Amino acid sequence: LDRKVRQNNWEESNFINYKKMSENLAIVRARLNRPLTFAEKILYSHLDDPHGQEIERGVSYLRLRPDRVACQDATAQMAILQFMSAGMPSVANPTTVHCDHLIEAQIGGAKDLARAININKEVYDFLASACAKYNIGFWKPGSGIIHQILLENYAFPGGLLIGTDSHTPNAGGLGMAAIGVGGADAVDVMANLPWELKAPKVIGVKLTGQMSGWTAPKDIILKVADILTVKGGTGAIVEYHGPGTETISATGMFWLTYPHATICNMGAEIGATTSVFPFNDRMYDYLAATKRTEIGDFARSYAQELREDKGAEYDQLIEINLTELEPHINGPFTPDLATPISKFAETAKKNGWPEELKVGLIGSCTNSSYEDMSRAASIARDALNHGLKAKSLFTVTPGSEQVRATIARDGQLQTFEEFGGVVLANACGPCIGQWDRQDVKKGEANSILSSYNRNFTGRNDGNPATHSFVTSPDLVVALSIAGTLSFNPLKDKLKDKDGNEFLLAAPTGNALPERGYDPGENTYQAPPADRASVQVQVSPTSDRLQVLSPFNAWDGKDALDMPILIKAKGKTTTDHISMAGPWLKYRGHLDNISNNMLIGAINEANGEANKVKNATTSDFDAVPAVARDYKAKGIKWVVIGDWNYGEGSSREHAALEPRHLGGLAIITRSFARIHETNLKKQGMLPLTFSDPADYDKIKPDDRIDLLCTGLAVGKPFTMVVHPKDGKPFEVQLSHTFNEAQIEWFKNGSALNTMAKANK
Ligand code: SF4
Repeated sequence: LDRKVRQNNWEESNFINYKKMSENLAIVRARLNRPLTFAEKILYSHLDDPHGQEIERGVSYLRLRPDRVACQDATAQMAILQFMSAGMPSVANPTTVHCDHLIEAQIGGAKDLARAININKEVYDFLASACAKYNIGFWKPGSGIIHQILLENYAFPGGLLIGTDSHTPNAGGLGMAAIGVGGADAVDVMANLPWELKAPKVIGVKLTGQMSGWTAPKDIILKVADILTVKGGTGAIVEYHGPGTETISATGMFWLTYPHATICNMGAEIGATTSVFPFNDRMYDYLAATKRTEIGDFARSYAQELREDKGAEYDQLIEINLTELEPHINGPFTPDLATPISKFAETAKKNGWPEELKVGLIGSCTNSSYEDMSRAASIARDALNHGLKAKSLFTVTPGSEQVRATIARDGQLQTFEEFGGVVLANACGPCIGQWDRQDVKKGEANSILSSYNRNFTGRNDGNPATHSFVTSPDLVVALSIAGTLSFNPLKDKLKDKDGNEFLLAAPTGNALPERGYDPGENTYQAPPADRASVQVQVSPTSDRLQVLSPFNAWDGKDALDMPILIKAKGKTTTDHISMAGPWLKYRGHLDNISNNMLIGAINEANGEANKVKNATTSDFDAVPAVARDYKAKGIKWVVIGDWNYGEGSSREHAALEPRHLGGLAIITRSFARIHETNLKKQGMLPLTFSDPADYDKIKPDDRIDLLCTGLAVGKPFTMVVHPKDGKPFEVQLSHTFNEAQIEWFKNGSALNTMAKANK
């Protein structure tokens, strides 16, 4: 294990550290003295402190050292802006940025890409220059979708990666634990802080039997989603094992690595932390085909730690017999509503789902393997041979430039075009609503079928009446030929151009391109050798990007006589604190996006959202406007919140905005843990009422003293409340600050603390 094997073909000096991983595992094994699951092995081999770390699945918080970070272009903006404010010369851990989310599908790949480059120029210029400056690999627009690029280039068995995108688990197809996180976590790892994760439970999925015919790997995850539902994987890693992970299909063909990736990708739909497959020969073949034989050989020498131990125990166990598994279609509106194809026509009719299939969409990060494309093309070719084309509109989204170039060279792409398909840019496109759809009006009920992963209301085209279903690429093509949801290709016949009936042949396709992959255009920008002279490009007049200044350090004093900006009543999620939708445009501009701060929270004083009293003028105004006025007058303020304040997505803006607008503390009955930590990272004080009933004693007009000089580990914190009428009284608050986090508060933020340490 002493060998120096590079993590990938792009970076000269980042190596796979199986030696260190095996040493860490030996320490943990001696402590736990029980068989380990593969998921545990990956995590525990990346512990920051394998000797001292408490380890209890579902209970302890693990401090981990991931091998890599990956960001997509939408989430990378604030992550990099924050990292820049730490003043470090380069990222401390290997990092890549991928331009895929901002490209809208309109008429076809090349033109859509050119238009997106024009519209998003300032964002791309910023990301390209910041990546060059801070030693980050930059994948330009047109390179492909983050998860496909990771699989083709960066994923390796046993590795630990975090990515600022929920489908990061895709890399589990190569035996990597790849976990989707918020931007704040990515910044920590870029800046060399350990990354914290609640020790996940492990759900085992045992695969037995063999797939055949129209059943595809997608059907495994569609079935798992059916069993576990959209919440069933929360806090858990899903670990596939059993003979089916090595399966040879009935046609004698190996299912390759990529199908594993499809299954891991969609683990996000059941809320799982990530999903993993054990290292096997299929993965070796894929590594070899993507010019990483050395990694495959190295993994073979560490193979016993790249799967579960004999006798490893799972918190929950599911078994799926692939021989009996039917093709499924899931949806509409939720990915866990699974219907087997044999019942689909009848179920659609019963539920009144629009029968006509308007659009079939294949590709995306979920289903873009060469095998997926070959199988889909084989069905399209069968139809063409019978004189038929797609009746529905049909689109193809290649996951990467390499996939696009390879299927262009080998003919599948031409088959799709002959079939009537439009080949879109190598980007997210309709999967994330970047789709200028013209064939139906907003509000018109209609059905679409995709090989994507998510199908929540409005996700693809912004039309809440669109019934979006997800399935394998095979069924998308087949149903697009018939143009209806009531077609079952396993038994229903079609009429050829002469009116003769025929049954579509079951799909076939090569697992790997016989002539190897064609890399296509070079879309990678490596960091230059001389990075010191690179200037990061941010226009001072930009409304989408703003360079962040480090927050001020604590002034060392108690904070007296502060107003309550808002006493929020009931649920206050990160969406209430920092709304998404149209605001996402400003996610790289802290001052502009701060105009959405807490606009969704309900003010206890009047039961309304975004209407609070300015304590200095007694006028009612929007929450951000009042906060700005206090800030301009040099007045610190606090928020009072209810139970589980800050639940929801982990977006860091919800913590950055109150800090930016001059808030000092958020005082609640309880916090969602990630938001609580995010607030600490930004130098704010998340505090809770020691007696939750004290929440009711506070009135929105009260003034607050916080005795910050008394902040100490494990000690309660005193708040003095000055009611408008009546005598002041004390309320005891609790907090969860440790020593290191108190330094974050004192220095103004976790990043300021890192910057200080690195000076
Ligand atoms: Fe996310 Fe869809 Fe893009 Fe995949 S293709 S990264 S699921 S938006």
